[in-house]
Amino acid sequence: MNNAKVRVRFAPSPTGPLHMGGVRTALYNYLFAKQQGGDFILRIEDTDQTRFVPGAEEYIIDSLKWCGISPDEGQGVGGDFGPYRQSERKAMYRQYAQQLVDNGHAYYAFDTAEDLERVRQLAKDAGSPNWQYNHVTRNSMKNSLSLSQSEVQKRIDSGEPYVIRIKLNRNEEVKFEDIVRGWVSVNTNNMDDKVLFKSDGMPTYHLANIVDDHLMQISHVIRGEEWLPSAPLHILLYRYLGWEDSMPQFAHLPLLLKPDGNGKLSKRDGDRLGFPVFPLEWHNKESGEVFSGYRENGYFPEAFINMLAFLGWNPGTAQELFSLEELTEAFSLKKVNKAGARYDHDKTRWFNQQYLRLKSDEELGRLLSAEAQKAGHDIDQAKAAAIAALMKERAYFIKDLWEDSEFFFQAPTEYDEKTLRKKWNQDARNHVSQLHQIFEMLSSFTPEDVEGSFKAYLEENGLGFGKVGPGFRLAVTGKGMGPSMFEICAILGKEETLSRLKLALEKLP
Ligand code: GLU
Repeated sequence: MNNAKVRVRFAPSPTGPLHMGGVRTALYNYLFAKQQGGDFILRIEDTDQTRFVPGAEEYIIDSLKWCGISPDEGQGVGGDFGPYRQSERKAMYRQYAQQLVDNGHAYYAFDTAEDLERVRQLAKDAGSPNWQYNHVTRNSMKNSLSLSQSEVQKRIDSGEPYVIRIKLNRNEEVKFEDIVRGWVSVNTNNMDDKVLFKSDGMPTYHLANIVDDHLMQISHVIRGEEWLPSAPLHILLYRYLGWEDSMPQFAHLPLLLKPDGNGKLSKRDGDRLGFPVFPLEWHNKESGEVFSGYRENGYFPEAFINMLAFLGWNPGTAQELFSLEELTEAFSLKKVNKAGARYDHDKTRWFNQQYLRLKSDEELGRLLSAEAQKAGHDIDQAKAAAIAALMKERAYFIKDLWEDSEFFFQAPTEYDEKTLRKKWNQDARNHVSQLHQIFEMLSSFTPEDVEGSFKAYLEENGLGFGKVGPGFRLAVTGKGMGPSMFEICAILGKEETLSRLKLALEKLP
């Protein structure tokens, strides 16, 4: 590898929404690039036009943006090596396919889809279900290796459609060292003569990928393990195109597994198992289906990213919370695991809770008042921050914070049934009405004021907290549990507290 500068690329195909596994690939590329002072490039691989899905490219760009993974170069950003959408690079690929044909590493093949289907079926009937176009079978197919030169020329001249296939040697070991997996060795006898160039004038993924990685001076190819079987073919393409000296290094990332560890986490799993597999919500325009997203489910992008970073990597220390900058510093491809990474939804929730707790009360207050506003309540920021400070302990999401705090915004319309049954009686009514009188006389209503007068009341009457507390809480909040009532009353203010005590006396038996 001679390239001085680290240049990596994330190269998704716009065939649908970006799976969280794809986001992890982008993240690892980004972290590696930033750490090495290199460039992170976004390239859109849209050579397979039959699988193109409108809106997918935009979705990819939006997802990366939400996660804070910003490309230095590429689709939507620009740069010196564009265009970054393969369909716009179409004219560049043909010459390389031709070069391979000219130097004997590729050949024209005229077989129609029906021809191929027929030989596959014949092989299947004869007991070999995995028919391959290879050094043995190609001799009996219609291609420039089996047909005479004049026949080939005739077919080309008459405009017959053809593809260009790579010509693999028989029984050749292809070896390379993967940063994650170590030495990988595959024999060409187990590979097939893949199509490089299609009859529609488009390159296949394999050719376009290699040509672009070369022209864009990519130094490291970091991608999902599902591409490992293609790597030997890519190595051969570098060799046959004469680019072996500047070939990138490979790192194939472990699969993301379902929570039970049984198999790959698929696009369908998420909503079936009760968690999103996509960063953002995705609307399938054709089927009308909606797939849920982390963003819409109330996850913070920092928590999502932190969780993803740990799916396949860990720093080897006890530290679990890492900002994007800290990840950039700590990340190492060498520490990426070979074994598949099992997705753990409780852990994801935990990360979100941690990030919620890390936010300042002011920030949480802002997020909380945004929720309150949606429900039609206006509230001043200082009050919202005070509520957030008091209520954040139990919340995993802003939604929890809002639900737990709703009683601050409106007087109870319902009262906790169990507390009502067990704690609300004539005594409780008397206490609440006494408290009403006592609070009414307070000229200042800080938590300390409320606490002082409440405790004085207990003391004067020789009462334990448990005799008065639950009814008091029920009357003010409608709930059986929660944080300090003195804090709650102070936030509600004297007038509102008194009115709630009165309301409870009116409404409750
Ligand atoms: N277009 C491929 C994908 O969708 C890229 C694979 C690679 O990174 O080489 O994943």
